[in-house]
Amino acid sequence: MYTIAIIGYGGMGGYHAKQLLSLPEEFRLAGVYDINPARIDAAEKDGIHGYRSLEEVFADPEVRTVLLAVPNNFHKPLSIAAMRAGKNVICEKPVMLNAAELEEVIAVSKETGRQFSVHQNRRWDKDFLIVKKLIEDGAIGKPFYIESRVQGSKGIPGDWRCVKEAGGGMLLDWGVHLIDQLMYLVDSPVTEVYAHLLSVKFPGVDDNFKLMMRFKNGLSALVEVDTYTFINLPRWHVSGDGGTAQVDDFSCTGRILRAKTEEMRWEEGIVYTVAGPTRTMAPRPKESIEEQPLPELESDARDYYRNFRDADEGKAPLAVTPEQALRVMRVIDAVFASAEKGCSVSLHI
Ligand code: NAD
Repeated sequence: MYTIAIIGYGGMGGYHAKQLLSLPEEFRLAGVYDINPARIDAAEKDGIHGYRSLEEVFADPEVRTVLLAVPNNFHKPLSIAAMRAGKNVICEKPVMLNAAELEEVIAVSKETGRQFSVHQNRRWDKDFLIVKKLIEDGAIGKPFYIESRVQGSKGIPGDWRCVKEAGGGMLLDWGVHLIDQLMYLVDSPVTEVYAHLLSVKFPGVDDNFKLMMRFKNGLSALVEVDTYTFINLPRWHVSGDGGTAQVDDFSCTGRILRAKTEEMRWEEGIVYTVAGPTRTMAPRPKESIEEQPLPELESDARDYYRNFRDADEGKAPLAVTPEQALRVMRVIDAVFASAEKGCSVSLHI
C-alpha cells in the first residue's frame, strides 16, 4: 500500500482525496493538512484524518509522498520543506512560478534523493490522447499546424487566481497544461514564441491569451486560453499534409476529413461572394473528400498516481519528469518575456 498525505484541502485537494480513496487496494490516504483549520474540519467530516500542523505531516513515518494542492506561490517552499523532511513530492501545476524556482527545487530533489513530479493530469485527458493517437496513426499525414484552446465566459474564479503574486493568471493556470501537452506531443525543440497576454476583466493578471509557438521541425502551434468569450472555437484543430482533424470540446465529438484525390477540377464550383468570384476558397466537391470518426480510446487519470508509485519503487520510468517540467517553465518564462516586450522571443528548448 502506497501512502500519501495531501497538503491543501481546497478544490484540487478534495479531488485528489476522492481519486486516491477510489483505489483503496493501491493507495492509503494518510490524511490532509490545510492552513485553514476549517478545511481540516471539513476533511474530518469527510472521514479523512486531519493533521493539525505541517510538522505533524512531515514527522509521520508512514507518509512516503506528500501531494501539494496549495496556491501556486506556495509550491516552492513546501516542495523544498517536504523533500528536506524526507518525503517525495507530487506538486500541483504550475510546477513553480518560473524556471529559476524549479531549478532550486530540482537541486533539492537531487540532494535529498527524493522523487519529485508535477501533476500534469491533462496528459491523460481524452481529447489530448485522441489528437496524439490520430497523429501517431498518420490519420492526417504530417501535421504542420495545431490549434489548442480552452475557452470559457465566466472569468477567473475570484480567489488567489486573480492575484499576480500568488501565481494567478491563465498562462500559469490552463496555459501550463496546454503547453505541456504540445511539448509532450511534438518531439522537437521550441524555437520561437510570440504572445499576447490580455487582462480583459481582471487587472494585474492575464485572463485571455494568444500564443504562437514554432518548433524546430517546422510545426507551428496556436495556444489560446480565454475566460471571457461567448462563442467557442474547437478545442483542437489540427492540420496535416494529408487532412484535417477537429475535436470540438471536452466531450470529444469531432471528425477527420481527408482528400480522396489531390487532383482538382478548378473550373468547377466557383464561389461568388458579393464582391467577386473565388476558386481557391470554394469548397471541394463532396466526392473528393472522405470523413472518418475520431479514434476511440479509454483513459484513467489515476494512472498518474500509479506511475508515480511505480517509479518510486523502481518499476517504471517516471511519466512526468522534473526535466520535462523545466522545459515547459523555460518556455513560459519566454512567453511572459514576449508579452512584456511586444515581440517574438527566439529560444531553443
Ligand atoms: P483552492 O483555493 O480551492 O484550495 C487551496 C487550499 O490550500 C485552500 O484550502 C487553502 O486554505 C490551502 N492553503 C493555502 N495556503 C496553504 C499553505 N501554505 N499550507 C497549507 N494549505 C494552504 O485552490 P485549488 O483550486 O485547490 O488549487 C490548488 C492547486 O491545484 C493550485 O496550484 C492549482 O493550480 C492546482 N489545480 C490543478 C488542477 C489540475 O487539473 N491539475 C485543477 C485545479 C487546480
